[in-house]
Amino acid sequence: MSRFVLSGTPWPLPLALSLLVSSTSSERWRGAVGEAARLLAPGWDDDSYISDLGTLALVLHLRAQDDRLPQKVPVQEILATLAPVDAAGEPEFVQESWELLRQTGEAPPIAGQVEEGAGQVWLVQRDLGDRYLGGDMDELHGPGPSAFQSATARLRALLADLDEERREALYVVPVPSGSVQVQAAGGVKVITTGSVMAMRCTHKGCPAEGGTVIVDGMRARYVCPDGHTSSPRTLAPAHARWALRHVGHDPASSGRLLVDGLFHVPQVSESPRMELSANVWLRQQQRGSKADPEVLRRLDAAADEFDRW
Ligand SMILES: [Zn+2]
Repeated sequence: MSRFVLSGTPWPLPLALSLLVSSTSSERWRGAVGEAARLLAPGWDDDSYISDLGTLALVLHLRAQDDRLPQKVPVQEILATLAPVDAAGEPEFVQESWELLRQTGEAPPIAGQVEEGAGQVWLVQRDLGDRYLGGDMDELHGPGPSAFQSATARLRALLADLDEERREALYVVPVPSGSVQVQAAGGVKVITTGSVMAMRCTHKGCPAEGGTVIVDGMRARYVCPDGHTSSPRTLAPAHARWALRHVGHDPASSGRLLVDGLFHVPQVSESPRMELSANVWLRQQQRGSKADPEVLRRLDAAADEFDRW
């Protein structure tokens, strides 16, 4: 599972929703994400930020109570929650939200075991609250603003003119189930602009290739044909979902998908929106390269070898 799933790249609303909700998400979180989508859908376009959607969902999740659904949290209360900031300019509701997540069991049960134990809402909040995003991790530089800072400012502007009457008239946005399983008959390849690397099982002694990629909210997993599950660092949920376009599926799909041939997923270090044609080998294939297939095979093998380093 990779961090910073929610930053940077703007996504279509259904894809953004599929990354925010997992198959095990609580009704409270699903309701909060759905209501956030309903409030932001009228203005959502190609440049909209998934961080706005995630931030608003966290506020609604925090302010909903057992007897009050996220849809019933007043706009004025949302705006009042977004406003206060601490000395670093970070919104104060985030600390309150961490407390709630500890109470609701979203926090990882053992500190440090985030990859296995954390719930979806925890992962969303950690991603949006990371203040080292975009930095070079140089210790000489202190932490910068988190994604929350710009998201709260945008949300306050976006919601400023919304009253309860106009809110009532907004359409409900369907929230996806959260999980997609992609089984590729030809196997799974992780690509960069200069390499194609077969995804292989990391289980000791298992030689298997091919298998299934599972994307569930903020997590991406690989299951080899022998059933070993791993979370390769090269595999990221947004990258895997966006790559579904190239095998004829909606990136926001849920359920089980069968792919006839190969499933190419850009490596996490690449832009999640990297097109397959950016890869030199795939571009040659697409153009019907006249190169000797044996030469291409050797190039492919060399790229594989290089990537193992
Ligand atoms: Zn295996």
